[in-house]
Amino acid sequence: MAGETSTTQTPRPGTDPLVLGKRIRHARVAARLTLQQLAAAVGSTTSQLSLVENGRREPRLSLLTAIAEVLGTPVASLLSPEPPPDRRAELEIALERAQRGPLFASLGVTPVRPGRRLPMEALESLVALHAELDRRARAAIATPEEARRINTELRLDMQARGNYVPEIEAKAEEFVRSVGYTGGALTHHMVAQMAERLGFTIIHVDDLPHSTRTVTDLENGRIYLPPASIPGGYGLRSLALQAMAHRIFEHENPKSYGDFLRQRQELAYFTACCLVPRFAAVAFLEKQKAAKDLAMEDFRDAFGVTHHSAAQRFTNLATSHLGIPVHFIRANSDGALYRGYENDGVPLPADASGAIEGQPLCRKWAARAAFARRNRTTEFFQYTDTPAGTYWCSTQTGSSTDSEFSITLGVPFAHAKWFRGRETTRRAQSSCPDEACCRRPRTELATRWREQSWPSAKMHAYVLRPLPSGTFPGVDETEVYEFLQAHAPDS
Ligand SMILES: [Zn+2]
Repeated sequence: MAGETSTTQTPRPGTDPLVLGKRIRHARVAARLTLQQLAAAVGSTTSQLSLVENGRREPRLSLLTAIAEVLGTPVASLLSPEPPPDRRAELEIALERAQRGPLFASLGVTPVRPGRRLPMEALESLVALHAELDRRARAAIATPEEARRINTELRLDMQARGNYVPEIEAKAEEFVRSVGYTGGALTHHMVAQMAERLGFTIIHVDDLPHSTRTVTDLENGRIYLPPASIPGGYGLRSLALQAMAHRIFEHENPKSYGDFLRQRQELAYFTACCLVPRFAAVAFLEKQKAAKDLAMEDFRDAFGVTHHSAAQRFTNLATSHLGIPVHFIRANSDGALYRGYENDGVPLPADASGAIEGQPLCRKWAARAAFARRNRTTEFFQYTDTPAGTYWCSTQTGSSTDSEFSITLGVPFAHAKWFRGRETTRRAQSSCPDEACCRRPRTELATRWREQSWPSAKMHAYVLRPLPSGTFPGVDETEVYEFLQAHAPDS
């Protein structure tokens, strides 16, 4: 054993001990030597050599050289990365590899020793099963592409409906009226009453599982929310409403990523309808339109929602109720589109599949130009000429914990007249997606810096997360159940 602990001199970095072991065994059997005979000839022990042949220990170079000499084969041949020309050895290697991987380890299944007593048929079958398991696991992590495709489908579908779903509007309207809502911001008290009508109590806790926003205990009728860190903070109304909406829409656990996204969209739409109910919103907006004083900031303030929610909500009602086609863009300060919607023909950047999320926006558009402004307390207004016509846009910048963003609401030139800020003299010309517009660096700068720079890119987080296996997408079930258990009332 002393020899084993001395400086490890591995034959070659990157050599797979499994393959090496099988090649040694193959050469030994071909030379008609037993393990004992070989051990005696190279001055080792059968147990050491067995570990080597099973790929559990890498032989030092001196031992390997001795083995090669005794077996009459070059060291290089033993070190070949190819499995030995023997179906059984090939299968044994495949099985061992699969059983040593993280996928198998995650299953908690006892591994099989691919020894001589394991029938070939069983070996073939096990290897095939592992290959299929691996294929399925890989298919599951390929979901982002599928998710982007479905996301695009959903966006185009909503675009065709003017981003408006009257059935959900009506359902939400009835619900808020049932607790006495008549206009303005929906209060926390009303939200609590709404929960009660559904048979739920809202409870704030500070130990929600990290992977969740809210957890609902269906048996005991409780909705657990994070603590109200800012008393009166409006985000909590929205969380509570989304939890309730799950119940109202009787959502089953999603069976596919498409189901999952559709449910999320429904929940978000319903929540928006409750926070900014249609009848109150339309009355407010019609009045502003008549006064030619439409402004997202006023709409936001009147209903106590974020600028993002207000502008997005405006897109639901603008076309159907005010006759205004619109676009909405949420952009990150790095210039990438984070979320977008349009039914006014504005040429949103898109990839070959039609997906818009994560695509770079034209530098000249208000959604990006607004970042350059120093005073950001009010909205930023701009007319932009594009290949699809001229648009008027109002942009509000803001910052979240980790990045800056901008929220833009835009309309075709002909509809600018209804909005506050239409008198702006800011005007920009954009020819995107033509790369000459703003994607190519100025020639003199490119000449100066192309060979003299090495920028390090940030990882982009826009790609939709894959649907993890399990009952609840994106959620640690164990944590959820433990949490529920700890909080359940004694029954
Ligand atoms: Zn451009």
